[in-house]
Amino acid sequence: RQVQADHLIQSVKRNFELLHPDYVFTVHMQGDTPYVSIPSRYLEQVLIILLDNAVKFSTNKKEIIITCTSEKQIMRIQVIDKGIGIPKQDIPYVLNRFYRVDKARSRKQGGLGLGLAIAKRWVEKYNGTISIQSKEGEGTTFTITFPAALL
Ligand code: ATP
Repeated sequence: RQVQADHLIQSVKRNFELLHPDYVFTVHMQGDTPYVSIPSRYLEQVLIILLDNAVKFSTNKKEIIITCTSEKQIMRIQVIDKGIGIPKQDIPYVLNRFYRVDKARSRKQGGLGLGLAIAKRWVEKYNGTISIQSKEGEGTTFTITFPAALL
């Protein structure tokens, strides 16, 4: 039950292009064919959560990049936006349940603050990692990694 991540990424990207025609989505693939053992419905859900956030928090600069790099035993996917970013002091908490940065700024986007907690749960259940790089006013990169599946 190995999932070929590049096919999944392309199909999620096409759905987001249809949902958000005012945004530009770009996919960069690098390395070997990326097979992973997280079931495709979970990987898809994680990608949707990350892309939904990227869209919600980058209304100022509507360019979203998805990279998928597969090398040695690790597959890495990054979702990169050029949006409002996350203040440094909030970064350690945004993966927690119900945590939302600055209620005033998040209110108009709606949401409960559950998306990232769910994403983290699925990623870690399948031996992956999730991490955040962000700069306020410049944008945010979410990185997930998984051990490459043995074929
Ligand atoms: P829900 O996912 O329940 O609909 P949500 O999007 O607010 O609501 P999370 O996905 O858990 O919840 O995100 C938590 C908070 O982290 C968000 O409210 C937002 O403040 C911040 N955040 C998440 N992704 C980004 C991003 N790409 N850019 C800027 N801030 C982000």
